[in-house]
Amino acid sequence: MSNRGKLFIVSGPSGSGKSSLVSDIINELNDFVRSVSVTTRPGRGDEVSGNQYHFISKDEFDRLIEKDMLLEWASYAGYQYGTPKDFVNENLDKGKNVILVIDVQGAMQVAEKIKETYLIFITTSSLKDLEERIRKRGADSSEEMKRRLAIATRELDHMKHYDCIIVNNNYNEALLNLKKVLNSQKGRE
Ligand code: 5GP
Repeated sequence: MSNRGKLFIVSGPSGSGKSSLVSDIINELNDFVRSVSVTTRPGRGDEVSGNQYHFISKDEFDRLIEKDMLLEWASYAGYQYGTPKDFVNENLDKGKNVILVIDVQGAMQVAEKIKETYLIFITTSSLKDLEERIRKRGADSSEEMKRRLAIATRELDHMKHYDCIIVNNNYNEALLNLKKVLNSQKGRE
């Protein structure tokens, strides 16, 4: 059997907890790496470039598209986000399992290109819960919050295209479920 790693996508509406879940899991599973996306969105409070995202200008983003250096990219709430192609390919070649935490538009693009991608959708059980979490995070202006909630409603329509859905009502349970899914679906040597 090939020892190439497997590609995983984790999507879910703003406030679903997907980024925290994946960060916590990456610390525990050493055969998994998370891809760091490029974005034109400005960094929030404690975000550091190269850690959560590589924060770049619109010109730099356009150049990456031109040079075909992104595996996928999408616009979300007025900013652009993309996955650097080389990082993903190099790690899959090394036998690492790679996790992309990206939106539904990007997920559909990748699933089209790489058929064996495993798609995981993280959600809460109601929009009200999401709204509360986005509000509590307090990082977004009320305009941006409204925009993110509207997008969340649309994103839920895409759930049917995913291989697995994890409802994050209890963080530790969701963490356990995500870990189980990743371990049972990962590439094997
Ligand atoms: P946020 O601004 O909240 O960090 O991210 C907004 C949305 O963009 C989230 O759904 C996040 O998963 C998604 N996102 C982050 N990086 C990428 C990427 O490289 N490509 C795509 N398509 N979406 C991304």
